Amino acid sequence: KGPDPDLVSIAERMATVKHKILVLSGKGGVGKSTFSAQLSFALAAMGFQVGLLDIDICGPSIPKMLGLEGQEIHQSNLGWSPVYVESNLGVMSIGFMIPHPDEAVIWRGPRKNGLIKQFLKDVYWGELDFLVVDAPPGTSDEHISIVQCLDVAGIDGAIIVTTPQQVSLIDVRKEVSFCKKVGVKVLGVVENMSGLCQPIRDFKFMKMTDTGEQRDVTEWVWEYLTEKAPEMLNLIACSEVFDSSRGGAAKMCTEMGVPFLGKVPLDPQLCKAAEEGRSCFVGKECVVSAPALKKIIEKL
Ligand code: ADP
Repeated sequence: KGPDPDLVSIAERMATVKHKILVLSGKGGVGKSTFSAQLSFALAAMGFQVGLLDIDICGPSIPKMLGLEGQEIHQSNLGWSPVYVESNLGVMSIGFMIPHPDEAVIWRGPRKNGLIKQFLKDVYWGELDFLVVDAPPGTSDEHISIVQCLDVAGIDGAIIVTTPQQVSLIDVRKEVSFCKKVGVKVLGVVENMSGLCQPIRDFKFMKMTDTGEQRDVTEWVWEYLTEKAPEMLNLIACSEVFDSSRGGAAKMCTEMGVPFLGKVPLDPQLCKAAEEGRSCFVGKECVVSAPALKKIIEKL
C-alpha cells in the first residue's frame, strides 16, 4: 500500500507554510477563538504573512471575530481562496460555507474529518509565516485527524486556552496528555478570563437603599472623585471573579511540566472588539487585555 494520497497533497500544500500552531481548549466558551483571532491580528500587525484556519466545525465563530460575516470563499485554479482581512491575513472557516449562520451544523466524524483534510489540501494560502489553527474544544476524532494531517509537514506545537476554574483546568490536563500522546509540543497554557479588570471610569456604582433596592449613584461618586481625588479616576479596578486559591493554571503548568504563558483578564473592551470583528491592539480601549495578550505573544 502506497502513502495516503491526501497526506501527500497536504504535505505539498503545507510546504509553503513555515510555522503551524494549534489553538486548543478543554471546554467551549473559554476564549479559544478570541485568542486565535487576536493572535492572528497581532502576528499580521508585526508584518508576518498569516493564515487563520477555523476547524471548529460545529461552532465557527472566527468569521464574526474578524469582521468577515457573510463573506464567501472563491475558487481559483490554485484551490479555495481564503477570505482576506488584510493583504497579509487570510481566513478560512466552515462559517463561510453555511448560508444561514443560525443553522446548526450536525455532522458525523468522518464527514468532519473529510472537511478538515479538504481545508488543508485545497486551500491556497500561498507563502505563509504562520498558520494558526482554531480547533474545536476537547479531544475528539477531529483533533487526531488535524494532528495527523499537519504532522506530515511538521507542526510547531499547541497553545491551550483555559479559564481559572477547576472544571476547566481538569480538562486542560486532558489536552496536555493528548498532546503528549500524539507527540505535539505544548507551547504553553494561557489563562483567560482571569479576574475582571476595568478602568474605574467604566464602572457603575450602586447603593443599597433601606428597602433593599439598588440605586445608581455613579454621578455622585464621580462628582466626589473629580473634586477630592481626580487622579483616582484613572485607576483600574481588578476583582478575582473565579476562585484562584488553588493556584489556577500557573500551578497546574508547573505540576505538568509545560510552560505557562500568562493571564488575560476579563475585559469588556476585548469582548466588544471580538463582537465587532476588530483587533484589540488598535486604539487604546483594551487597556488591560491588550498589554496582557502582547506579553503572551512575545513569549511564543
Ligand atoms: P471559545 O472559542 O473557547 O468557545 P470564545 O472565544 O468564542 O470562546 O469566547 C466566548 C465569549 O467570551 C465571546 O463572546 C468572547 O468575546 C468573550 N471573551 C473571551 N475572552 C474574553 C476576555 N478576556 N474578556 C472578555 N470577554 C472575553
